[in-house]
Amino acid sequence: DVEIKGARKQFGSNVVLNDIDLEVKQGELLTLLGPSGCGKSTTLNLIAGFLEADQGDVYIKGKKVTKVPPYKRDLGMVFQTYSLFPHMTVLENLSFGLKLRKVAKTEQKKKIDRVLELVKMSGLEHRYPRELSGGQRQRVAIARALVVEPELLLLDEPLSNLDAKLRHELRAEIKRLQKEIGVTTIFVTHDQEEALSMSDRVVVMNAGEIEQISTPTVIYNHPETEFVFQFIGKSN
Ligand code: ATP
Ligand code: MG
Repeated sequence: DVEIKGARKQFGSNVVLNDIDLEVKQGELLTLLGPSGCGKSTTLNLIAGFLEADQGDVYIKGKKVTKVPPYKRDLGMVFQTYSLFPHMTVLENLSFGLKLRKVAKTEQKKKIDRVLELVKMSGLEHRYPRELSGGQRQRVAIARALVVEPELLLLDEPLSNLDAKLRHELRAEIKRLQKEIGVTTIFVTHDQEEALSMSDRVVVMNAGEIEQISTPTVIYNHPETEFVFQFIGKSN
């Protein structure tokens, strides 16, 4: 469904992605796991179109999108730091993308009601982001990404600013939502436990390279490299 072929990205003399090949299957939740600075966000930004690789290409549904701007890629994204528009209410945040896509008013309302229910935020439509807790904001950010019914959902550490309890709750919720909607999802985290508990498959990255791509069980029981062994082992 989504494919990266031979992607290389360098900032100055710093090689951030070194020849990355990656295939994401239709409907799966794939997690990019690795330490800070290994290139996870850079990979997502290539897929989203916010960055262009120095070499290599990105394909979505078999179509090369390397030159296609982000807003035409049919994806929803939740960024690492809060990404709601602060001057807009929850409702306005959610209708923003629908307006851009010229969805009719009545249809907008239906779609918004449905996603707010999905993320358990019904009734808070008229609050501003500053009037919400961190977890609620992240829920709204996820709802905003979902409301346009994207082909692809990109989640860049959406739980990193939350306390442990809320993180556990939202983990389970994201997984449930993802399966319920069936949207192909790339989830980014540096948390081993989170990756292993949520994903259909995990991509372990280190210093701009892919160490291993496998199901959580295989990654856990049969780490292919010393790095994977060490990195996964640290969580136990
Ligand atoms: P984290 O878990 O901390 O978010 P990450 O795996 O998402 O890390 P990236 O954001 O992809 O890491 O960054 C990978 C490397 O590229 C880092 O060394 C970072 O400093 C560098 N980098 C990222 N964006 C830029 C940029 N726009 N200009 C220069 N260097 C950058
Ligand atoms: Mg990052």
